Amino acid sequence: MTDKITSQPSCVDPFEEGMISLTEALERIGERVLAVHACERLPIRDCLNRVNNEAVKSPHNVPPRPNSAMDGYAIAVASLVEGDIVELEEVGGAYAGRPFAGNCGPAQCVRIMTGALIPDGADAVIMQEQVEIAADGRIRIDSDHRVGENIRQAGEDVKQGEIVIEAGVRLSPADLGVLASLGLTQLQVKRKPVVAFFSTGDELTAVGTPLQPGMIYDSNRYSLHGMLARLPVDSIDLGVVRDNPEAMREALAEAAARADLIISTGGVSVGEADYIKPALAELGSTEFWKIAIKPGRPLTFGEIGNSVFMGLPGNPVAVMVTFSQFVVPAIDVLSGASMRAPLLVPARARDSLRKKPGRTEFQRGIATLDENNRWQVGKTGKQGSGILTSMSRANCFIVLPDDNDGVEPGDEVSIQFLDWAI
Ligand code: AMP
Ligand code: MG
Repeated sequence: MTDKITSQPSCVDPFEEGMISLTEALERIGERVLAVHACERLPIRDCLNRVNNEAVKSPHNVPPRPNSAMDGYAIAVASLVEGDIVELEEVGGAYAGRPFAGNCGPAQCVRIMTGALIPDGADAVIMQEQVEIAADGRIRIDSDHRVGENIRQAGEDVKQGEIVIEAGVRLSPADLGVLASLGLTQLQVKRKPVVAFFSTGDELTAVGTPLQPGMIYDSNRYSLHGMLARLPVDSIDLGVVRDNPEAMREALAEAAARADLIISTGGVSVGEADYIKPALAELGSTEFWKIAIKPGRPLTFGEIGNSVFMGLPGNPVAVMVTFSQFVVPAIDVLSGASMRAPLLVPARARDSLRKKPGRTEFQRGIATLDENNRWQVGKTGKQGSGILTSMSRANCFIVLPDDNDGVEPGDEVSIQFLDWAI
């Protein structure tokens, strides 16, 4: 057998000098990316997915006054007789938005609907299913009831003065509902970060144009567009930038003038980096990180003017992996929120998975529930970083940690759902 020739470290090496871990890369991103400063006041509908700038304190109690949680009869519990059945006189009705004006005295009850204010004198609501109506129309109730029954107390959802939404929270549909329940019409949120992105490569052809020999269609800008469209950012597609320093300089300068975050793909292989590096160095400060992950080992990270630059690899799967692992957290921070920790879910492997120790791998998986309602996961087939269909078939990454040295069917692994697959 001949000796193996390795003249330089490469992406097939399981571990390489100077590599940093996934966690370290995220820490560095967290240290260097700053939240956008500017804020805007928006109608609460438009605040969905935006980051709240100031803690929201409730101006009043929610609900404002005690009201009924059920359709039934409001009574004073003192009217009941222990171990016996009483017959109460119905003296009126209380409806949501139309309170009962009178008093609910001893031996009386008030017909009440869900959401109606509790009448003065009453301290419980008896469900209509737990009463009988006598022939003379009186309401028969047993003694098995307590004060406060079926009453929503004032402030039981939110107390006046309480902080309901902290600063830095990304607003969910439920948050919009809570804001409306407080009667708020507008909220101050961080402005949306602007993200500019472009592809690099002399081989790239825009869709809609016939392919010449040696050329391929530019898919990265479409997967990036799709991933960015799901995030609360404004994005600018700067097209394809050819592999030369002048074009790169122009693209970077334009992107930096317009965006908070610049994303490029490609141009990081040996040789190509030689002219991208000087263009970057001229305009800002950038570092080339080798991250111990697969796919997606090389990542260029830096600052150009006031913008953050993230140079992703060119391979289509590596683009999507590095976007999900590094760009999404960077956008979290830029937006004024904290980085979301990835949600890893245990699953049983259905296939054997090849893996060498050294790097964290993001294999593409299809997770399904087994007969016991536990997650099981199989691979999508070929796992090369150019096999983009492995991403479109997948609903999750199978995340194999640095030290993992392969998986057998039945082993437990961690999966991370693709955020559009859930
Ligand atoms: P690079 O990092 O530029 O050497 O690219 C690595 C691999 O990804 C090469 O096979 C490229 O052709 C491919 N690639 C780079 N950019 C794109 C793109 N925008 N769309 C599809 N494939 C790409
Ligand atoms: Mg290239």
